[in-house]
Amino acid sequence: RLRRRLVECRYAIDKLVPHLLSIYQSLIPPEEEKAKQKQLLLSLEKLVNKQWPKAQLHIYGSCANSFGVSNSDIDICLAIDDADLSKSDILLKLADIFQSDNLQNVQALTHARVPIVKLMDPISGISCDICVNNLLAVVNTKLLRDYAKIDDRLRQLAFIVKHWAKSRRVNETYRGTLSSYAYVLMCIHFLQQRKPAILPCLQQMEATYAITVDNTKCAFFDRVEMLRDFGAHNKESIAYLLWAFFHYWAYCHDYTNDVISIRNGGIISKRSKDWTRRIGNDRHLICIEDPFEIEHDLGRVVDKFSIKILREEFERAADILQFDSNPCVTLFEPY
Ligand code: ATP
Ligand code: MG
Repeated sequence: RLRRRLVECRYAIDKLVPHLLSIYQSLIPPEEEKAKQKQLLLSLEKLVNKQWPKAQLHIYGSCANSFGVSNSDIDICLAIDDADLSKSDILLKLADIFQSDNLQNVQALTHARVPIVKLMDPISGISCDICVNNLLAVVNTKLLRDYAKIDDRLRQLAFIVKHWAKSRRVNETYRGTLSSYAYVLMCIHFLQQRKPAILPCLQQMEATYAITVDNTKCAFFDRVEMLRDFGAHNKESIAYLLWAFFHYWAYCHDYTNDVISIRNGGIISKRSKDWTRRIGNDRHLICIEDPFEIEHDLGRVVDKFSIKILREEFERAADILQFDSNPCVTLFEPY
C-alpha cells in the first residue's frame, strides 16, 4: 500500500511539470539582452585598452554561467598584469576612466571583500560590477556553464531554486543565507547523486581543460557535447526532482557530518576537512565545498540563526510541493 501511495504522490507532483516549465521559460533572458551585454563589454574593453592595451575583460557569474535570469547585473573581471599598481590603485584608475566617459553611478569599493568598481551604462540601463584578476571566478563560471550543457534539468532546477530563494529571501549572504553560486553547486551535487545519475563528475574524468590560477590547479573534462545523453536513463521529471531536492535538504542531509563536493562527485566528511569546529567566524553549519578552492566552504556565511531559517524553508518547500493545493504559487510567496 505504501508503494501505491508513493506512486500516487509522484503522479500528483509530476502534474506540476507544465507550470514549472512555464515559470522557468519566463525567467530566461531574451537573446537581445545577451547582445546588449556583449556590446557593453566591448565598449568597456575599448576604454580600458586605451590605458592598458593588453588588459582583457571577462564576463563571469550568472550572465556567463547560463544560470542568470533576466535583468541581472553583469559581473566582469579585468585581467591585467600591472606590477606597478596595487589592486586599489587599479580600481581607482578604472573608476576615473569610466567616469570621464559618462558612465553613471561610478563607484570604487576598494574595501569590499571582493573589491570592485560599480557602474551603470545609461544607454542600455545595465549595471556592472568589475573586479580585478579574480580569474578563479572566471574558471568556476566555465565549469557551471559546462555542467548546464549536459542535461537541461540542471538549468531548470537551478533557475527555479534561485527564484524560490530570492522570493523567500534566503539568497542574501549578508544576512547569513546562501549565494546563488552555492545554490547552483547544491543542484549539481544533487543531480550527480541521482540513481541513475543525471550529471557526471567532470573533475574526476580525464582532463581536457586545465589551467593554473593563483597556484590552484583547475582541471576537468570539458568536451561536454559528448555527454548530451548522460542523464537519459534517468526519467525523473523536473517537478519530482524539485521536490526531491528540497526533501533532501529538509530531511535527509546529515548536517552534522557531511560536506557536499561536486569536485569529488559525492559526500565527504567534515572530519576529513577539519570542518568540525568553529574557527573564527567559520561555523560550517552547512558545508558546500568550492570545486577549486577546496579549503573554502560556501556555507561559511551561515550562522546559528540563519541555519534554522534555511532548514525551515527547505521543509516548507518540500511540504508545499507534496501537500499544497496550489504549490506553484505558494512556493514562491514573498517572505
Ligand atoms: P545572481 O543571479 O544572483 O547574480 P550569480 O551567478 O551572479 O547569481 P553570485 O553568487 O553573485 O551569483 O556569484 C557570481 C560569481 O562569483 C559566481 O558565478 C562565482 O563565479 C563567483 N563566486 C561567488 N561567490 C563565490 C565564492 N564564495 N567563492 C568563489 N567564487 C564565488
Ligand atoms: Mg551576479
